[in-house]
Amino acid sequence: MRDRDINLSFADLFTIGIGPSSSHTVGPMRAAARFVSELENAGGFEATTRIIADLFGSLALTGIGHGTDKAILAGLAGNRPERTSPEDFAAIATRAEDTSTLLLGGKKDIRFVPADHIRFNFDEVLDEHPNGMRFTALSEAGPIFDMEFYSVGGGFVLAKGESAAAQTSGHNLKLPHPFTCGDELLEMAEQSGKTIAEVMLANESAWRSEEETLAYLHEVHDCMSQCIERGCAQEGILPGRLKVPRRAKAHFERLKSQPERALKDPLTTLDWINLFALAVSEENASGGRVVTAPTNGAAGVIPAVIAYYERFCSSASKKGVEDFLLTAAAIGVIYKKRASISGAEVGCQGEVGVACSMAAAGLAAALGGTNEQIENAAEIGMEHNLGLTCDPVAGLVQVPCIERNAMGATKAINAARLALLGTGKHMVSLDKVIETMRQTGLDMGTKYKETSQGGLAVNVVEC
Ligand code: SF4
Repeated sequence: MRDRDINLSFADLFTIGIGPSSSHTVGPMRAAARFVSELENAGGFEATTRIIADLFGSLALTGIGHGTDKAILAGLAGNRPERTSPEDFAAIATRAEDTSTLLLGGKKDIRFVPADHIRFNFDEVLDEHPNGMRFTALSEAGPIFDMEFYSVGGGFVLAKGESAAAQTSGHNLKLPHPFTCGDELLEMAEQSGKTIAEVMLANESAWRSEEETLAYLHEVHDCMSQCIERGCAQEGILPGRLKVPRRAKAHFERLKSQPERALKDPLTTLDWINLFALAVSEENASGGRVVTAPTNGAAGVIPAVIAYYERFCSSASKKGVEDFLLTAAAIGVIYKKRASISGAEVGCQGEVGVACSMAAAGLAAALGGTNEQIENAAEIGMEHNLGLTCDPVAGLVQVPCIERNAMGATKAINAARLALLGTGKHMVSLDKVIETMRQTGLDMGTKYKETSQGGLAVNVVEC
């Protein structure tokens, strides 16, 4: 599924969507919505009286916990993740369950019994990808149209036979700095006399004006900040059979009530960083509005590190936030081109590991690091996440995912600090660590790749 020549924009990597999973919620929702529009294009919409959605591999094994069934319903009803509120998302599923009908494409009611018409094929994996799904439209006479899709991570979706380039909005564009790896990024930055953030911003001009890119960047930043605020205000139990209590609000109240603690314990800062990550990850786990950064499972890392930068670094500025996010995006582009950002393909090293690497680079940039120090920070951020498995308990993006985001955020800050202490010269390059991550992901057993068949998922007894 990799394609080093695809063009990826900031807006491809950072999308505003719905939790809890970019590959298992956002991707299937996009695939279902696309299926309906392809059905219309093929002239089969009017005759359709039934739809069957078949889920395979990781989507079948962890789909219920990840809200894949609800995402399919929302997508078939013509909704897109970026324009659907969490409330509408939930209401669509409730309507289908209560009435056994679905408003196909938002236009006509068909009979739809979620328990019968969304089929979880637990023992079958499609050859092309571990996150496979097939939609079949039927008339009274039988099947009339079908399509197969793969949710390849970060909310990206491919139809059968499509190249990776088809996932992106800019496969025909010519970028001023078409870097495909860390070495090229450094070389192009040096030749043009730009920072990594400036290289990324210049590339974005192939899609839209600088003003539009920065406006979207700040929309993403606002969404991240609001997510922290919402997470700090919610309490109760997260959805799903694990009955995991939300912790962010109590944690927030405790920190606010003891401001003098920071004078005695400088590591109170760490408590705040943990809080920021927990708040976003709990919002994600409850199906809230989050930014895929680069995935939903890892959505807490980058917002937590940005919040740390804004609240605890004396040099913080609006320009610093822009540099942070543009630099993080440049690093995310390389992972997407050369390896994967999908837990089902390479384990959690591709999700929290990549987010950690992106955040480390972003923070190093915001704090004024050189391009070499930034590349070093990104490398350190991944080097110490290599081999990280994906083993969500009960198929929910909660345990270990929520705390793992906090660990990813604190590790990212340490990676940036380590890199900023050095000269930028280091032994393991970013490209070497990305290739190692890819190979490690290939070698990793399927049970450790978002199937809930290994690791904590089998060793933690559900209450
Ligand atoms: S373990 Fe990591 S990759 Fe797997 S669902 Fe949780 S956050 Fe995502």
